[in-house]
Amino acid sequence: MASKFKLELNTYLGAVHIHTTNSDGSGSVAEVVYAAKQAGLSWIIITDHNNMNVEEGFYNGVCVIAGEEISPPNNNHYLAFGINSAIQPDDEENLQNTLNSVREQGGFGFAAHPDERLSRNNSYSPIRWTDKSVIPDGVEIWNWFSMWGDYLNEKNLFTLASSFLFKNSLVKRPHEETLRWWDELNASSDKIVPAIGGVDAHAMKVRKCFLPLTIFPYKTMLKTITNVISMETPLSGDFRTAKKQILNTLKSGNNIVFNRRVSKGVPSVRVFNKETMVTPGGRIKLDRETFIDIKAPREGIIRIIKDGKEFSSKLRTKYKTLLPEAGKYRVEILFDGYGWAYSNPIEVVL
Ligand SMILES: [Zn+2]
Ligand SMILES: [Zn+2]
Repeated sequence: MASKFKLELNTYLGAVHIHTTNSDGSGSVAEVVYAAKQAGLSWIIITDHNNMNVEEGFYNGVCVIAGEEISPPNNNHYLAFGINSAIQPDDEENLQNTLNSVREQGGFGFAAHPDERLSRNNSYSPIRWTDKSVIPDGVEIWNWFSMWGDYLNEKNLFTLASSFLFKNSLVKRPHEETLRWWDELNASSDKIVPAIGGVDAHAMKVRKCFLPLTIFPYKTMLKTITNVISMETPLSGDFRTAKKQILNTLKSGNNIVFNRRVSKGVPSVRVFNKETMVTPGGRIKLDRETFIDIKAPREGIIRIIKDGKEFSSKLRTKYKTLLPEAGKYRVEILFDGYGWAYSNPIEVVL
């Protein structure tokens, strides 16, 4: 019997929040693309500080999109996508003005590394989202480099060396306060407030440069925090169309953030009812057969969070369960204490 809906979706791995030599990154666009290709990515979004001097297009099969990290000197970094010209940080550091400028250009943005740790064992001041009452379009819930910086320990030579040698063990899971804020934003919005995960591949020039940058080569970084988007129609070969497809999925929250350093494989989260099927970022009507279907590459803790509260938590490889009530459901998958995957919410409505 023919299926009522298309089960086979096209999935594409991509990375966002990447710096090049146009700001404080250590590599050219060509070098970043080479690394992206090696890391198995189909698309990347380059977000240099306060400029968009990147020639967009397909490079060796990788869709390269220019975004911007609007970066005031101290706090409130904002990842802006879908804008046509670079936006400078507001003179008066009025965050709302920045958000409005992005929207005026038809773009959308994500609060970057909003909860960098205040207590750090190093000399780099945290860059945070200072006023949580200013509501961004979305949230960067996990940022590899920022989190490494949170736990970089410069106390002595031993701790410093460990911070580099065991760098991946410092990036355990997103900050609780960021997840909580994201859940709150979703609770008070009738839409999905989307999340992305960033690599923040760059040097430390904004702060100070103290070690060779090649310690974090792009190829390694681009194999860490990844976004998987899924689409019914394949990614177009025409750049403008492909760019639109990718930005639309991120804007609607049709992606899952996951750290490929923790496990290989790609997470899958879907909700079905009698009529149809949706992926993260989607909305579906509740009926008696509405269920969520989650797949992981191996046994891990699969948590379902409904409207900010734990709905279910199981040790499984696959998990299918009925959803009895309307609400916004998102999924977390953890392996051995490490966060692996964080899906955007799926909204189940009456
Ligand atoms: Zn930043
Ligand atoms: Zn950055």
